[in-house]
Amino acid sequence: MIAGVEGTLLPVLTPASTNPANEVAKKLTGRDYVSWSALSTFRTCPLKYKFRYIDGLPEESVSSALVFGTGIHSAVEQHYQALLSGDPKPDLDALLFAYRSAWLPHDPEAIQFGSTETRASLDALASRMLAAFLNSPAASVQGRVLGVEEEIRGTLIEGVPDLYGRVDLLTEDADTLVVTDIKTSRGKWSQEQVEDSGEQLLLYSHLASEIAPGKKIATRFLVLTKTKEPVIEEHTREVEPASVKRTLVGVERVWRAIESGVFYPAPSTVSCSSCGYRAACRAWAG
Ligand code: SF4
Repeated sequence: MIAGVEGTLLPVLTPASTNPANEVAKKLTGRDYVSWSALSTFRTCPLKYKFRYIDGLPEESVSSALVFGTGIHSAVEQHYQALLSGDPKPDLDALLFAYRSAWLPHDPEAIQFGSTETRASLDALASRMLAAFLNSPAASVQGRVLGVEEEIRGTLIEGVPDLYGRVDLLTEDADTLVVTDIKTSRGKWSQEQVEDSGEQLLLYSHLASEIAPGKKIATRFLVLTKTKEPVIEEHTREVEPASVKRTLVGVERVWRAIESGVFYPAPSTVSCSSCGYRAACRAWAG
C-alpha cells in the first residue's frame, strides 16, 4: 500500500486483469504476467530466458555483483521505508545489517567472485557506499515518499501479458510524480547510459501515472558508484510520450518472439561470464 495523493491509502497493485494474453504467459512460464527482468533477459540472451523462465532451471552459480547489488538495494530501501512510515532513520549499522542479510540465502560455494574481490572487500565497499549515501542530498526526499518497493501491475499493450514489477521508490512534490530506480555502478553514469537504461522506468511511470492524474511524471536514477570514493548520483528526466511509445513497441516485439519460441544462444563476454547456465548452454543442441 502507498500513501495516496489525497492522503488516503491506495493500492498501486492493479488486480490481475482479464487480459487474454495473461493466460498465454501462464501456459508458457507458469506466471500470468511478464516482468521487465524477463523481457530484458530475453533481449540479452533468448536461450538464457528459456532456461530461466520456460524450463525453470536452477542456476549453477550466482555472481557476487548480483548479491552485492541486492544488498545495497535492501539497505537503501530500508532508509526510505523509515521516511515513509515516519520512523527514526536507520543508522549505518542498521543499513549494513540489511545489506549483509542479502547474502544469507545463498550457498557461499555457489557465489562467483571477481578476481580481485572477497566477501570482506565487498563488505568494506558497502560500508563506504552506504555512508556516502547517508551523507548525500539523496538521503532526503523532495516532497514526500508515496511508496517503497511498491508492486505495480497493468496491461500496457493489447496482446501482451500484464507487466508486473516493483518500483524502488515513488515520491511526489507539488506538481511531479517521480519514479526512482536504485542502481549500483562501477563508475559515474554518462548521459548515454541514463538514456539507454530508461526503458524499465518509462514503463513503470506509464503504469504509475494513473495514481496521480494531472501531474507531470519524471523518472529518476539514484546511482551509487562502487568506486574507491563512492559517489551518489541522481539523474532525473521528465517522461516524453514518444519515448514511452517506442519502448512499448519494443516490448510487443519481444513478446511476439517469446510466444513464437524463438530461443537461441547469444554469446558475449559480458553476459556469458556471469551466466548461471554455462553448463546447460554447452549441452544445448537446439
Ligand atoms: S552462457 Fe551465454 S550464450 Fe549461453 S545461455 Fe548463458 S548468456 Fe546465453
